[in-house]
Amino acid sequence: MDFYNNTSFDGHEQVTFFHHKKSGLKAIIAIHNTNLGPALGGCRMWDYESDDEALVDVLRLSRGMSYKAALAGLKLGGGKSVIIGDAKAQKTPELFQAMGRCVDRMMGRYIIAEDVGTSPEDMVEINKMTDHVVGLPGDDNAASGDPSPVTAYGTFLGIKASVEHRLNRQDLSGLHIVVQGLGHVGMNLCRHLHEAGAKLTVTDINEEALETAKAEFGAEIVSPDAVYDVSADVYAPCALGGTINDDTLARLDVPVIAGAANNQLLELSHGDILKQRNILYAPDFIINAGGLINVYYEWMNANEGSDRYSRDDVFKHLDIIHENLKKTYQISDEQNVSTGLAAERLAETIFEPEIEDAGKRNTQAA
Ligand code: NAD
Repeated sequence: MDFYNNTSFDGHEQVTFFHHKKSGLKAIIAIHNTNLGPALGGCRMWDYESDDEALVDVLRLSRGMSYKAALAGLKLGGGKSVIIGDAKAQKTPELFQAMGRCVDRMMGRYIIAEDVGTSPEDMVEINKMTDHVVGLPGDDNAASGDPSPVTAYGTFLGIKASVEHRLNRQDLSGLHIVVQGLGHVGMNLCRHLHEAGAKLTVTDINEEALETAKAEFGAEIVSPDAVYDVSADVYAPCALGGTINDDTLARLDVPVIAGAANNQLLELSHGDILKQRNILYAPDFIINAGGLINVYYEWMNANEGSDRYSRDDVFKHLDIIHENLKKTYQISDEQNVSTGLAAERLAETIFEPEIEDAGKRNTQAA
């Protein structure tokens, strides 16, 4: 790969490749930026077609974490890791212990957490070799537990901010909201929306989840493909990434897109098309920051001697999602750029001045 000219290599601070023959571990840890603090980001285990594909994925994901952490007001940088392998067939305690040793060798510059293909139980194996891990299971005072209810509530706040901006409405009562994906986040989100008086249409590939949403929230059910043809006030993607693409864009008839799924835009240019069509898009790395905010409090608890992990503190912190979206939409309107680009510009005002400050500190030290 032509590394430095690759657009995914966006001035990363450090990219480290690991190979542990005995356990079969092949992993990459990418640290995009640590101006605000250590790089915290999940570990994805995926059966990549090639090493290049794994590298591009980890570079893109780690960059995104710098923006997500900065906007969430956290003293964290951006990083991510990938393990190349089939999560269904190749997981062993030895593999994750080897990964734990790799993380430990980063000397605290990278803090690992679960992601697609890894679980809190895998983090336990990693924790045998390093303290630089968050998202451990359990509900004792130190562990932060399932982040999904936090992510769901942050997404709910983000939907409200987006509706306020685009529809000039302070509440969701009577609005028609389409929720795609009734998993850990989507089902919790539906509960908040239902309590706020919204009318719900939902889809999933899981029949049981659909029946629950129908029984508990009076939701209407549509098939997974038909979801893009429902005329509504808000479309909330809470399942897969890439659902906003050339095919679906032509079909979407909603003024607001605001949901928890990661990487909702298949390509960045789809954000420009949304802007042209006057569809307000809540950037995913702002609206779904609840999960990161949740583990941040666990990490502070372990490393900075704060009293104990408190869900109340985490929920209070979520107000930042509403503030960030309001600022983002203002920049997007004033500068006539997509909301994604506006959000990136906003984040850069938070973490880039630190680069200059760090430079000054180095000059002074010299
Ligand atoms: P999950 O796996 O619990 O739920 C995903 C749901 O989507 C499942 O019910 C699944 O059946 C459904 N689904 C899969 N394919 C579908 C399809 N084609 N059409 C409709 N539904 C489909 O995941 P989650 O934890 O609820 O996360 C949802 C999204 O939010 C993911 O993109 C995740 O990356 C993102 N996210 C989650 C968190 C968190 O705290 N869990 C934090 C940040 C971002």
